[in-house]
Amino acid sequence: MPSYQTTGLVIGRTNFGEADRIIRLLTPQYGKLSAVARGVRKIKSRTAGHLELFGEVVLQLATGRQLDTITSARLVWYPHALTDDYGRLALAYAFGALIDRIAQEHQAQPELYEHLREALAALSDGAAGPLIELWFKLRLLQLAGYRPELQRCVACGQDNPDASYAFDAARGGIVCTACASAGSHAMPTNTIKLWRLLSDYPYTTVSQITGAATLAASSLPWCDEFYEHHLGKAIRPGFGTII
Ligand SMILES: [Zn+2]
Repeated sequence: MPSYQTTGLVIGRTNFGEADRIIRLLTPQYGKLSAVARGVRKIKSRTAGHLELFGEVVLQLATGRQLDTITSARLVWYPHALTDDYGRLALAYAFGALIDRIAQEHQAQPELYEHLREALAALSDGAAGPLIELWFKLRLLQLAGYRPELQRCVACGQDNPDASYAFDAARGGIVCTACASAGSHAMPTNTIKLWRLLSDYPYTTVSQITGAATLAASSLPWCDEFYEHHLGKAIRPGFGTII
């Protein structure tokens, strides 16, 4: 049976059969991957402790006809500080669920991998609240090719920096006053600028921006609305999201 090795972040786990578990992973080279960990729910399992949710593991896998099998797993990094904080753990669950929805199987996506790894590290270092959530969601849209239009009116193309704009989730970005409709939300220039930065920069950079947390809190619902229109139901932090 051919085998291969990869690094992966555990984004989901499902019990399977009597003692097995299906592990869902995000990997840099193979994108999203599901693999069976056999006997992992037995007390004597050697791999069990290495396949924790949100851990980064080095895996050896054997190719199977339907599902690949994990033949060995070694935990190399784990966001330890996450487990004692309900709010940050809920964000990690939401991030895992978003990645699970957006990442492609069997397709190299190293930038998505780096994004999730960076987000989990930031949460473990104490990041919390709407700013990291909005950053994760907007940057994910950018990396996956769904970035909202934030430079010019999506309807008429106007790009006057002194004009007022509104955000229109259904139409995919900002609209000028003339093109705004009942579904658009007036979007202050500072918020538009923040959204551009959140789409392009790492969290360590954007977390330094003065006033970013307040602007993020007021505009996060519009980002969820964008997900709802273009990528299915929005995913918000909370344990209602079982992954
Ligand atoms: Zn317009």
